[in-house]
Amino acid sequence: MRTILVADDDAGFRELVSELLGEAGYRVLKASDGAEAWELLESSGADMAVLDLNMPRLDGLQLTQRIRAHPSHAAMPIMMMTIRELAQDQASGYDHGADEYLPKPFDHRVFIAKVRALERRLLA
Ligand SMILES: [Mg+2]
Repeated sequence: MRTILVADDDAGFRELVSELLGEAGYRVLKASDGAEAWELLESSGADMAVLDLNMPRLDGLQLTQRIRAHPSHAAMPIMMMTIRELAQDQASGYDHGADEYLPKPFDHRVFIAKVRALERRLLA
C-alpha cells in the first residue's frame, strides 16, 4: 500500500483529501503545516506528497525545496494545492519542484485521477 503525506493548514481540505485518498486505497499521513509534514516524512517516510501551498511555519514551496534537496526524498512525487484563481501560485509551484498542481476547489474524481497518473509516471 502506498503512503501519501497530506499537509494542509485548512482542516476541511486536509480531511477531505485524506478521506478521498483513503477511499482510493492509500495510507495517509496528515500534517497541519509544513514543519509537521517534514517531521512526519523524516520519521515515517512517504511515497508521495500532497501539499497546500500556503501554510504556516513552512509553506508548500519551502517544503518542496527541502524535499528536493534531501537525498532520500528528492524523487518523491509532489502535488501542490493552490487557489484556482492564482495563476502565479501554480507557476511558482512548478518552479519550486512540484510535479503537479491541484487548484482548489477541485473535482474529487479529477483529484484521484491525478494522483494515480503521478503514481504511474513517477513510481513505475
Ligand atoms: Mg493553506
